[in-house]
Amino acid sequence: MIAGHAGIGMTSLRTRDRLVRRLQDEGIKSAVVLESIREVPRHLFVEEALASRAYEDTALPIGFGQTISQPYIVALMSEAVLAGGVPQKVLEVGTGSGYQAAVLARLVPHVYSVERNPNLLQRARRLFRELRIYNIQTNFSDGSWGWPSHGPYDAIVVTAAPLEVPKALLEQLGEGGRLVIPVGDRGGQELRLITRQGDKFEESHIAWVSFVPLVPGRG
Ligand code: SAH
Repeated sequence: MIAGHAGIGMTSLRTRDRLVRRLQDEGIKSAVVLESIREVPRHLFVEEALASRAYEDTALPIGFGQTISQPYIVALMSEAVLAGGVPQKVLEVGTGSGYQAAVLARLVPHVYSVERNPNLLQRARRLFRELRIYNIQTNFSDGSWGWPSHGPYDAIVVTAAPLEVPKALLEQLGEGGRLVIPVGDRGGQELRLITRQGDKFEESHIAWVSFVPLVPGRG
């Protein structure tokens, strides 16, 4: 389908199945999430030199000091988003390679994704077009401010770690909305689920994780 990527197609089906089995072994239960991971061609979201490692359960570099998240973490975050029912509108902060957005786009009607790095954003946009994914809208901005004009959101997924939960993201959660966010410094972060009930925000622990930091401003 995409020039220059044809060769990997033959081997990738088996390796994708292996990845899905591994995620199941690690505790991912949602059949739709597993199916989405199986369907999204992760090898196109990493640099060509790393394509043969794309279906290992690890984070990989995508340039500019950033990484594509580990499939297990993508699955875990996607499960957390879906656990309250299928959200109509999901905001992602940190488009990066576009992989998490592409996985979500198979699970929910509308994905909005915000990225501060123009090069990564351009690459992700091109890939969404090539893969004919039309339900992801992207924006070049500092995602700590969310994307107010499309809010409120049923769920917000943050894929870079702030030291504290940005207020704007809490404000852009709709009633019953779910925010999945890693919080902490480079040493390690807590992945939290924050659920909005009126003016109250209930927090729970999902896992310990390691994300790149959420950096203020556009760069
Ligand atoms: N979801 C991505 C993970 C990318 S890594 C994927 O599936 O590949 C985190 C991304 O967050 C990086 O691309 C980084 O540039 C971006 N980022 C960091 N701080 C940001 C901010 N304040 N606003 C928007 N994006 C940010």
